Amino acid sequence: MSIPIKIRAHHLLCMQGFQGYGYSQDFAANMQQVIETINSLQNPVVEIVAECDVICSHCPHNMEGVCWKGSGSAKRIRDMDLRVLEKLGLKEGTKVKGKYIFDLVNTRLGNVSDVNEICGKCEWMDRCVWYLGLGH
Ligand code: SF4
Repeated sequence: MSIPIKIRAHHLLCMQGFQGYGYSQDFAANMQQVIETINSLQNPVVEIVAECDVICSHCPHNMEGVCWKGSGSAKRIRDMDLRVLEKLGLKEGTKVKGKYIFDLVNTRLGNVSDVNEICGKCEWMDRCVWYLGLGH
């Protein structure tokens, strides 16, 4: 089996709502590539984590593998990941086939109040096509 692609849990939502915006051009290009790889015919294995991942790896807020986006961000964002894992019924470190994970997210997390609880303070909500498509 090839090496799993590490994805932090809340990015499973961000990836579905992504429409090209991000913290830098490099960040957005990398995110696009990660999304395409996961959705590719190879259907790679994804490891769901609650720490910096392949998307964070191109983020200007990532300092040596820790999110420094703002005061307390490392803990706040990890807590967000843990809430997503809990709602998906998965343990940190679970490995799944890429395509299956988006089906699971969309089955278990279609409820706007659940998503507001997770994403409530996200600055990208008004540009997230996944969130906007939930039907409010
Ligand atoms: S802001 Fe933090 S959690 Fe988000 S991509 Fe950057 S390093 Fe990762």
